[in-house]
Amino acid sequence: MTKILISVDIEGIAAVFERQQAVRGNPEYERARRLMTAEADAAVRGAFAGGATEVTVVDSHGPMGNLITEDLDPRARVICGRARPLSMIQGITPDHAGVVLIGWHASAGEYGQFAHTLSSQAFRRIRLNGAVVGETTLYGGYAASLGVPLLLTSGDDRYCAEVQAQFPATATVCVKTAIGMFAADCLSPHRARDLIEDAVRTAVQGHAQARVQHPVPAGADVGLLVPFRAEVEVTTQFIADGLSLLRGVERLGAETVAFTAADMREVLQTLAVMSLMGGSLQQ
Ligand SMILES: [Zn+2]
Repeated sequence: MTKILISVDIEGIAAVFERQQAVRGNPEYERARRLMTAEADAAVRGAFAGGATEVTVVDSHGPMGNLITEDLDPRARVICGRARPLSMIQGITPDHAGVVLIGWHASAGEYGQFAHTLSSQAFRRIRLNGAVVGETTLYGGYAASLGVPLLLTSGDDRYCAEVQAQFPATATVCVKTAIGMFAADCLSPHRARDLIEDAVRTAVQGHAQARVQHPVPAGADVGLLVPFRAEVEVTTQFIADGLSLLRGVERLGAETVAFTAADMREVLQTLAVMSLMGGSLQQ
C-alpha cells in the first residue's frame, strides 16, 4: 500500500497572479479554480504513475471548496470544506508514504506572490523558536512529526527557495517567477502540468528513500524541535488585544503575542483559533 496525500492551494498555481483570482464570486476566480484543478489532476496522475495505490487530494484554499471535483482523476478521493482539525493537511496519517503540496506560496513577511501564513488579515509574521515560518513549515513539520516525508512542493521561485532552505531533500517545481505580490512571469499552465506530473511520478517512485525532515530555520544546523515557542505578529493592535484573551497567550507588544506548545499539532490548533478570531476582529 502506498498512500499519497496531495494538498492543493491556489496562489502558487501557474498563471494565477492577482487577488481576484483567489476570491470567490468573480470570473477570474472561476478561471483560477480550473487552473488549480488541472494542476491537482496532473499531480494525481503522476502519483499513480509513480506507484501510489491510494491518493487523497485536499482542497486547501480559503473556504476549501475550490476544486472542480468532477474534473479530477476518478481514482483520487477529495477532502473539501471546513472547518477541519488539520486544515490544509486534513487526512494525513502515519501510514502515508508521502505528502505533495501543489500551488503553495511564500510565508507572511517574506518575498513572493501572495505571501501570507494562514490568514493575511490576521498575521503579519509568525516565528517558531525564533525562525520565520510559513504554511509549509507548519504542515510539512506536522507530517514529519508523524514520520511522513514531504516529497514535493510547487509554487513560485521565492516559495521554492524557502522550501529548499527548510526541507533540503524535498523536490520543488517552480511554475512561475514572482515579480511582486501580484505579478509573475509564468510558465504556460500546460507546461507546468507536465512538469508537475513528471516530478510527482519521480518523487513517489523514490518515496522509500525519502528522508523525514524536521524543517530547518534559516541559519540553523538542526531542524525545529519541540517544545515550540511561537511569536505571532498580527496586523492590528485590536487583534492582539483579542488574542491576548486566550488562555496561555502572552502579550509581547502592541501587535505581538506569544505562546508555547508541546508539539506541532498544538501549534496548528492555536494558530487556527487565532486565525478565526483575527478574522472577527477586523476594524
Ligand atoms: Zn490559499
